[in-house]
Amino acid sequence: MKLAIDGGTPVRTTTLPYSRQWITEDDCEAVTRVLRSDWLTTGPMIDEFERTFADFTGAKHAVAVSNGTAALHAAMYAINIGPGDEVIVPTMTFAATANGVLFCGGTPVFCDCDTDTLLIDPTAVEAAITKNTKAICAVDYAGQPCDYDALRKIADERHLLLIADACHALGGCYRHRSVGFLADLSTFSFHPVKPMTTGEGGMITTDNKEFANRMRQFRNHCMTSSHRERHEQGSWEYEIRGLGWNYRLTDFQAALGLSQLKKIPRATHKRRQIAERYDTAFASLVGILPLKVCSEIAHAYHLYVIRIDANNLSVGRAEFFRALTAEGIGVNVHYIPVHLHPFYREHLKTKKGMYPNAESAYERILSLPIFAGMSEEDVNDVIAAVTKVWKAYKR
Ligand SMILES: *Cc1c(COP(=O)(O)O)cnc(C)c1O
Repeated sequence: MKLAIDGGTPVRTTTLPYSRQWITEDDCEAVTRVLRSDWLTTGPMIDEFERTFADFTGAKHAVAVSNGTAALHAAMYAINIGPGDEVIVPTMTFAATANGVLFCGGTPVFCDCDTDTLLIDPTAVEAAITKNTKAICAVDYAGQPCDYDALRKIADERHLLLIADACHALGGCYRHRSVGFLADLSTFSFHPVKPMTTGEGGMITTDNKEFANRMRQFRNHCMTSSHRERHEQGSWEYEIRGLGWNYRLTDFQAALGLSQLKKIPRATHKRRQIAERYDTAFASLVGILPLKVCSEIAHAYHLYVIRIDANNLSVGRAEFFRALTAEGIGVNVHYIPVHLHPFYREHLKTKKGMYPNAESAYERILSLPIFAGMSEEDVNDVIAAVTKVWKAYKR
């Protein structure tokens, strides 16, 4: 079959995105109900969303913020990261993981990943620890939880805090413990491409009450009370005890979040079913390598990542990407390793060659569409397009 990139008929005429929100009628009703209520922000829906989210993950506290980046910033603030402090972060992540540390004046120290899972490599974490290290921030890349028992052991032995950037992994588990309950602090994003959405939004879970209190003030200008608390107390008084931000989530977003959270078990199940169909379909395509999935974890499949093995194909990732795009499949690349971006090269003196596993993975990876709202036909189209392109380029 002639590839669309060579003028053939594409598998799809409309592009299937790599991810998108899954919104139903009850989500819309939940939002409009709050729009007609007294509180659009700092209202009671925030408390309810936080309580329900904490219960869902098993954590004692959950703090809602305006996005996943704010969640990382708040987490770094909660543990007092400042100038001179180092936090170990993977380079195979979105830049916000490192930026949370930088916003607090700290230094992110990048760390390489395992070649088969692209998760942070505990051995590399140990090697990156210095006398200035304060915390490890792991990323549950693609929705697969990291090896938290290994990371916890390192953190405890070296007196470090453990943070999970769990923006990909809501709905996942590690050894029967829920994501959100695996680190001292876990951060989430509710961007439309993530496991659930509030438009923009974020959350931090923790068992530590003092961290939760610090983050609740931090998201609200470091004021000692919120607008609603003063309203209830009939008082105007508050104090500002630090430099805070306006990182508040609105109440109509919290209502959407509550409604979306209910669907996480179903949505996760759907993502796993799609991943299973891909696994089966690609098993016989030599040169298309899905990432390794570890035992004793439940994957949340925010992403389904394949690696293009140039030894078995006549083209590389870039050509494969273009060919699939032409077929109407919205593929993506997660991620360009953070240390290779000009800003970090300049400010942190990073360079090519420092993290070889992440760099060589980056040359080969492609994210295929996976989201709860995909139809059977959408899944078939992805499989058909990958198979078609593979046939054209296999050696
Ligand atoms: C999406 C994401 C973030 C940032 O979340 P926003 O809500 O977009 O600010 C941070 N870390 C990871 C790993 C992410 O995927």
